[in-house]
Amino acid sequence: MTKTYDLVVIGGGPAGLSASIYAARAGLKVLVLEQTISGGQMRLTGTIDNYPGFPEVTGAELSEALHRQALQQGAELVASVARKLRPEDGGFVIESSTGTYRCGAAIAASGTFHRNLPCPGAEEFVGKGVSFCALCDAGFVRDEAVAAVGGGNSALEEADFLTKYASKVYVIHRRDEFRAEKALQDRARANPKIEFVLSAEIDAIEGSDIVERVLVRDKKTGEVKPISVGGVFMFVGSSPNADYLPHDVLRSQGGWIATDDKLQTSLPGLFAAGDVRDTDLRQIVTATADGARAGMNASKYLEKTH
Ligand code: NAP
Repeated sequence: MTKTYDLVVIGGGPAGLSASIYAARAGLKVLVLEQTISGGQMRLTGTIDNYPGFPEVTGAELSEALHRQALQQGAELVASVARKLRPEDGGFVIESSTGTYRCGAAIAASGTFHRNLPCPGAEEFVGKGVSFCALCDAGFVRDEAVAAVGGGNSALEEADFLTKYASKVYVIHRRDEFRAEKALQDRARANPKIEFVLSAEIDAIEGSDIVERVLVRDKKTGEVKPISVGGVFMFVGSSPNADYLPHDVLRSQGGWIATDDKLQTSLPGLFAAGDVRDTDLRQIVTATADGARAGMNASKYLEKTH
């Protein structure tokens, strides 16, 4: 049976939950489709120290609080994966793993997925030593050396976290410079368990049943050397989770969803919020702010059109 809502929010991370809080407070009947559990990638973050007002909070704590707040405001939350969204009769039909939903407006707040390296072994060893989440998998590499690949905020933040478990963390990055914030660079440099392997690329990930080593090429000399590791944590960027949206929704290079100054996409009534959007800063605070604006703007859109 098809269920009907004023607004369906796709994604239960900080953007989606904030959107649902604002839209439900504005009196809309709101459903949030969450791929797994509330919080999205935020839930997999250990300590968060840059969310204003909360000098030290964990991703799990913030996720729980947002989840509770969304329910308190009257939003409905369901564990469900959106498969297809299409415009119909002035609104939208969303096909999902839990059935079909109709709504007058929708918000894409579906975040990103982690990219992998294109080298031999990278796909083969996913779940067997290749991981995208330090919080989830650090326990499996206790007292072993591991590699953290990348030079962004995720790589340096997660490398620091990994040192709580691993005996040593090699940060392998393709350039000499990092795009990560200075504070994270300074913290990683001060950590004696972190060794930087810079201007270096991984040619292959090898092992028998599980990861045993990476073959690392020095980009300046061309020399290739093996480094023994029990795990490879990939932080080489992310791509938007937006395959369920119609192909003609305007996207920027890389597939990020383009929005106007009201966070509306090129499809009237469809808004986008958080990391999935073409934006210059991907943080929890920008995701929650996006969510609030998308929720309110969706409400105003419905007032005018329905
Ligand atoms: P990111 O900022 O896009 O960084 C990806 C890193 O992977 C870059 O250093 C990039 O190298 C490297 N890389 C990309 N493709 C590669 C390849 N084929 N081979 C080798 N290296 C490759 O991604 P992110 O660190 O996951 O962060 C995503 C977003 O979330 C960012 O906006 C970030 O600010 C935000 N974030 C914020 C926090 C925080 O504020 N505490 C924490 C985590 C994430 P180059 O530098 O050479 O391009």
